[in-house]
Amino acid sequence: MNLTDRVALKKALRNELYSLTPPFPYSNFLIETSNACNHACIFCAHQKMKRKVGKINPELCYDILQQAYDLGTREVGFYATGEPFLVKELPDYIRKAKEIGYTYVYLTSNGSLATPEKIREVIDAGLDSIKFSINAPERKMYEFIHGHDDFDKVFEHLRYLNEYRKTSGRNYKIFITGILTRFTEDMKDDYFKVFEGLADEIVFKFVYNQGGYMPEIETLLKCKCDDETYRRCNLPFDAISVTCEGYLSIENADFENMLIVADLNKVSLKEGWYGEKMKEVRRMFLEDDFGDCICHGCVHHIYHAAKPLMPEYSTDNPDIFSDKLVRQRIEKHAEFLKSVNKYPSMNKKVYVPMAADIVHPGHINIIKKAAELGDVIVGLFTNEAIATYKNPPFMNYEQRKIVIENIKGVSEVIPQYTRDYEENLRRVRPDYMVHGTDWREGPLADVRKKAIEILSEWNGQVVEPEYTQGISSSMIKQNAK
Ligand code: SF4
Repeated sequence: MNLTDRVALKKALRNELYSLTPPFPYSNFLIETSNACNHACIFCAHQKMKRKVGKINPELCYDILQQAYDLGTREVGFYATGEPFLVKELPDYIRKAKEIGYTYVYLTSNGSLATPEKIREVIDAGLDSIKFSINAPERKMYEFIHGHDDFDKVFEHLRYLNEYRKTSGRNYKIFITGILTRFTEDMKDDYFKVFEGLADEIVFKFVYNQGGYMPEIETLLKCKCDDETYRRCNLPFDAISVTCEGYLSIENADFENMLIVADLNKVSLKEGWYGEKMKEVRRMFLEDDFGDCICHGCVHHIYHAAKPLMPEYSTDNPDIFSDKLVRQRIEKHAEFLKSVNKYPSMNKKVYVPMAADIVHPGHINIIKKAAELGDVIVGLFTNEAIATYKNPPFMNYEQRKIVIENIKGVSEVIPQYTRDYEENLRRVRPDYMVHGTDWREGPLADVRKKAIEILSEWNGQVVEPEYTQGISSSMIKQNAK
């Protein structure tokens, strides 16, 4: 079965899942045999990880494999935050899983260490499918994204994987995934040309915020065609992730162990899965109330400071939400990116909220001032947002958007759904927010105070050009009447 069919089948089986005590998962069981990686993908939080690098205790791994099987799990993957081919015991884990009775054992790898010898070892141990994560279909772009010039090597390994399938007569599947960023979103056709005949399926995914650890993806890497702002997550209800320390986590990309719910060195997998901590987490998801959990930022695609579920198992990393490394990578490859017209703006970001029903010199003034500070992102009030504090606008949102995005100095227009700016501020993470002085007093004073507090989390500032006297939309409407 191909990857797309497997995902569809899993989704179809998700009925009745969303409860405090869902059935033990049949699939979606990932074991982090090690958290070491030899690549440094630009969208991966591994590059910022401070968690000690280690590998799982083989005896514990075998024990957990058996426990999960006894509870009904039949599929297992040996990867999470690390590169599985760095683990010399990998073939042993695969063999053990097959001996226990797992019907589907799989791997995801960057492929750079999957030499012919290692490929034969894992295939002969009984591997059912292998997926190479190849995040650009061309050498220079691959080096920029992966942080290593291994494209040719990976290509050769992929070729051998196909050759061995023919000569060995083993019936394993070969897949490729491409995580698309704004630098590669237009390269899908190239994948099909370059890897023609070398994979049973090539699957693309939009880059996502890595379990909340990479909020900078939203502003620096996200595909331009990806407008998702909320994602329902199934992981606490139908996935088992075991870290290399032997902890049960809610998710496999838990780089600093912020989502640990049980220590499997001390309790059984069954106790962990049905334990109080796990129920607490499921409750957060069912009520969409995440408090300080990292899932808040992940689900809502925003930056949100987070605390670990069980601090005793997590690693403190003050730089975990910093975008410094991504920016450095882009700068390092600036020449190449410019040569292919993909160098992004590295200017400061300026957020400007406005209703802009009747555009007048006051708006132009604010936009001009904002453009002096950096790239202007206008948060345009939706019709519903406007209706909460004044009469509905003359022009609808789409019409107003066309007007605003054509004003000189405006880089982007996004919807502002409420008069509370928190969500957009956390999504855009602007260096500045520009607003007229008219909000210093009156009903908006509290909104202003909150915006200043949120911006201060990343050293952002509010800039308040003098309010343009003698003109406003309300005045124009009044005169027209
Ligand atoms: S919502 Fe939480 S569990 Fe789900 S992917 Fe995001 S960080 Fe992981």
